Amino acid sequence: MSAPPLVVGNWKMHGSTALVRALADLARQGWPACEAAVCLPHPLLAAAQMAFAGTPLRWGAQDCSCEAEGPFTGEVAPGLIRHFGARFVIVGHSERRDRHGETDGQVAAKAQRALAEGLTPIVCVGEKAEERDGDQTAATLRRQLLPLMRGLGRDLASVVIAYEPVWAIGSKDAATPGLIEDAHAFIADTLLFHTGLSARAVRIVYGGSVTPNNADAILARQGVGGLLVGGASLAPAEFLAVCQAAARCAHRLERRGAGGSTAPGSTPAD
Ligand code: PEP
Repeated sequence: MSAPPLVVGNWKMHGSTALVRALADLARQGWPACEAAVCLPHPLLAAAQMAFAGTPLRWGAQDCSCEAEGPFTGEVAPGLIRHFGARFVIVGHSERRDRHGETDGQVAAKAQRALAEGLTPIVCVGEKAEERDGDQTAATLRRQLLPLMRGLGRDLASVVIAYEPVWAIGSKDAATPGLIEDAHAFIADTLLFHTGLSARAVRIVYGGSVTPNNADAILARQGVGGLLVGGASLAPAEFLAVCQAAARCAHRLERRGAGGSTAPGSTPAD
């Protein structure tokens, strides 16, 4: 049977202990049947560990060092993130690639280290508007994936890939479900070609202006194994509503007995 969709909130440089508690209070009243996690700023990891214990919510960070430990001022070791009970860490978000000049190689090194320290890396890939307009989406995705595939090989089965077209992030204008399906298929084909891992083996999630209004339509697409949610994850009720969409998707999959040839969280294309 396919895994239920994964919904991950990315709080970016927002949030507070009060928001952690508000989300935990909501989760204690019951949570839909999907995998759900929030990736918070590092100083909130301890609060998340306390507040989310006993709820179905998991938590993670938004970046980590590619080193285990050492004289790297300001960097955060993945082992320390794991120490606070975190399961996930986002690496290679476009905001870090842009603002901090992170390269594809550094992103792959971070993912490798995170995995070695027991975290599930959520590796963000996606094209900028000018790359989309110049018909460079496939080339961009391949370039971003190559060091990752070389470094991790079949260990990519333990990684989440987040397809996040940069132009869709924070834009209130998500990519269309058709475009998302095409990009996910391209990523899955690339992984299959270079690592031999099938689409069922690697979870690929979509991120970019996901809301409760578009979550159902996106999750219904072939190869979409979940969602990475920025802005909408900052309002607990909206995050809950996105997770409800994921649970509906999981329910549909279960009813169809979707253990066959589809990717995690996917349904046949329209
Ligand atoms: C993100 O930055 O990872 C993201 C998906 O943001 P938003 O949902 O706000 O577009």
